[in-house]
Amino acid sequence: MEGLSGMLKEVVSKGFFRGIRVGHNGPTLSHFLYADDAVFLGEWNMTNAVNLKRILRVFHAVSGLKVNLNKCRVFGTKVDDGEVWGIARILHSWDKVTAPVGKGGLGLGSLSVANLALLAKGWWRFKQEKNGLWRKVVWAIHHTKTGESPLKDRFPLLFKLERIKGCKVGDRLVIFERELCGVWSWHRKLVSADKINEFRQLLILCSGVNVGYGIDRLIWALDGSNDFSVNSIKKCVGEWCYPDTTWVFGWNNWIPKKVCVLAWRVGLECVASLAELAKRNIVFELVLCLLCGEVDETVVHIFTSCGFAQDVWQILAL
Ligand SMILES: [Zn+2]
Repeated sequence: MEGLSGMLKEVVSKGFFRGIRVGHNGPTLSHFLYADDAVFLGEWNMTNAVNLKRILRVFHAVSGLKVNLNKCRVFGTKVDDGEVWGIARILHSWDKVTAPVGKGGLGLGSLSVANLALLAKGWWRFKQEKNGLWRKVVWAIHHTKTGESPLKDRFPLLFKLERIKGCKVGDRLVIFERELCGVWSWHRKLVSADKINEFRQLLILCSGVNVGYGIDRLIWALDGSNDFSVNSIKKCVGEWCYPDTTWVFGWNNWIPKKVCVLAWRVGLECVASLAELAKRNIVFELVLCLLCGEVDETVVHIFTSCGFAQDVWQILAL
């Protein structure tokens, strides 16, 4: 983190990142570091945001420490939400590519989500394949008795009072008129506070139990087929990882994929127009539209307001 601090001081001194000056002659604040966390302070403008992203990228390249932009937050003072979103979009642009289609992304999927889904697949197989050799090896190495224990050990006072020690959960919990009911068979009434407390704990545990007929088996609730699928968990985790957005692109299967992707990029203004390149310090003599030469070549101009573009739209409309 000292390296990051050193880099920030250097870029601030060279004017590539403009911090906030405290008072007329006070110090310029550009960043605070707390253990593994960092707060960057700077003037609210696009150049600062773009350069900050570059600094973090260079820091990653030289140190190997990657900043997780998913965990970053952007705060603006005296600016509206739209501007905050605009800056956040610059810092989080890769998120837009990996985000699900339903959240305005390209649906590429992130490697961390895919990794999590594959780990879950391992966990599912571990639960299902009780006789697999690999499962026996993992169990032998990692199993400790601190995990889930039988009900008789968790509720010893109630077990003493139970008449039929070999009864099953299905004997004590039955469905009556679509309601889960307890059919208890105690030697004596539950009177002491300890036993009542255990009974309450048992009822809490039972409240999430589904009782049915047949052999007990695990059901994967995220998929209608009740069976595990990597896709279902990727979809679920993806939904949870990415923030909701009001902008969702309407993908059309009739249009070639590359055209759809271009339209998606236009919607996000992520096309390398001359004006956008100039913002990234790629210098051109002129950033005027090459077709009409009247105004700057922005994304909106190329595809909508340019006279040439309007002629094309007109021909398509005919
Ligand atoms: Zn033009």
